[in-house]
Amino acid sequence: MFDLIEKLKEHLRHASVSTDSSFKQGMAGSRTFLSDLFSEMGLSVEIVDTDLHPIVLAKRGGDPKWPHVIIYGHYDVQPADPVELWKTEPFSPIEKDGRIYARGAADNKGPQMAHIAAVAELLEENPELPLRITFLIEGEEEIGSPSLLPFLENRREELSEADLVLLSDTLSPSAEQLVVTVGLRGIVVMDVEFEGPNSDLHSGLHGGAVYNPVQALCEVCASLHDEGNRVTIPGFYDGVTEVEDWEREELERLGSSESEYKRFLGLDSLHSLDGYTPFEAIRYLPTLEFNGIGGGYQGEGSKTIVPAKAMTKISCRLVGSQDPEHVGELVKQAILDRTPEGIKVRVEMGHKGAPYLVVPPGKPNSPGDMPARLKQAFEATEKAISSEFDKPPLFLREGGSIPIIADIKNVLALDSVMIGLFLPEDNLHAPNESMNLEVLKKGIRVSKKVLEAIAGG
Ligand SMILES: [Zn+2]
Repeated sequence: MFDLIEKLKEHLRHASVSTDSSFKQGMAGSRTFLSDLFSEMGLSVEIVDTDLHPIVLAKRGGDPKWPHVIIYGHYDVQPADPVELWKTEPFSPIEKDGRIYARGAADNKGPQMAHIAAVAELLEENPELPLRITFLIEGEEEIGSPSLLPFLENRREELSEADLVLLSDTLSPSAEQLVVTVGLRGIVVMDVEFEGPNSDLHSGLHGGAVYNPVQALCEVCASLHDEGNRVTIPGFYDGVTEVEDWEREELERLGSSESEYKRFLGLDSLHSLDGYTPFEAIRYLPTLEFNGIGGGYQGEGSKTIVPAKAMTKISCRLVGSQDPEHVGELVKQAILDRTPEGIKVRVEMGHKGAPYLVVPPGKPNSPGDMPARLKQAFEATEKAISSEFDKPPLFLREGGSIPIIADIKNVLALDSVMIGLFLPEDNLHAPNESMNLEVLKKGIRVSKKVLEAIAGG
């Protein structure tokens, strides 16, 4: 078995920043590191070309009757900027106080290494282990995974016969309390532009005669929610999954406090949909959010005009079976319908991603037809985390969006077991990123037990 810490450090030395082409060498170095490591473990490695950064695909084949697990990870990292805020060099990993500090330590090279090490140990202990494994490590996660969907579509036949996807690229609240993420919100974004007169007008000469685009936009925006913060667009909530009692209970066990949350945000009061706590609203409800608004004069002093234009940016987070395309259309149509005469409106759709939800076994609303190996994986995950972390995991949906998880579900018909191995204090995407080595080592044992259970089932 390889030295885990040394291997992780070696990987972290490759500055694999996907967004910046000057890091091409770091990206290539990271790929070579992975393919060498997988080859050493006896896996067959394929580097799959994409438009940007190739995918590392490593396979342990076997009897087609054996279970097949896809382990997902990404080898690219966020830029280290602002570098001056780092206490150590971002690409010179340092071990200190039970942590490894480096860009990518927690997102995603550390957590990904837990699964790699688990597989290496398992195969060493039992070369005959009846389990097929495919590592799918992409290099474009931090830039939105543009190549992953086409890759999945190209390889649908080969990958869809797997039983499930296992990954660690989600958050747990503390080193004592792990979370298994069972849902992610979807997303759809759009730009809205209101156009009135063909140029800004003198408000003394024309004010009172024309519809002010800023006023019109504000009226339309204000009409999209009622006082209870409910979106007023007919059909918007279609497909929203009701919050189950067990989900409320799991969330309560997290012990989040509204007063602390308010203090953290610097707010006197919160504004969630009637009937839901703010924490439930974040994870379990859709939103329609204004991300920005503008129009007219923004400079110093005053300028008495009727502006020619106004704009806003909107994003919706989606849950359950809400379809981003459809919800986007509903919002667009509502805006068009509510725009007053005298205003020309343009709504342009941006990126989108579907929500994801898997109900784990043993819950009142668990699907009766969950595939046996997936069920085994969830049960083994719960058991392994309970014994390694002395506390059962919480099965929670998350407010964020990882569209690739829904893509995997939609294209390959596979569910994902997402074991959160990074923590709030790990500084993901921020200076001084680090990985808790205790969590990493426990993560290896969890991954081993889960894979063993799937193989043994
Ligand atoms: Zn990540």
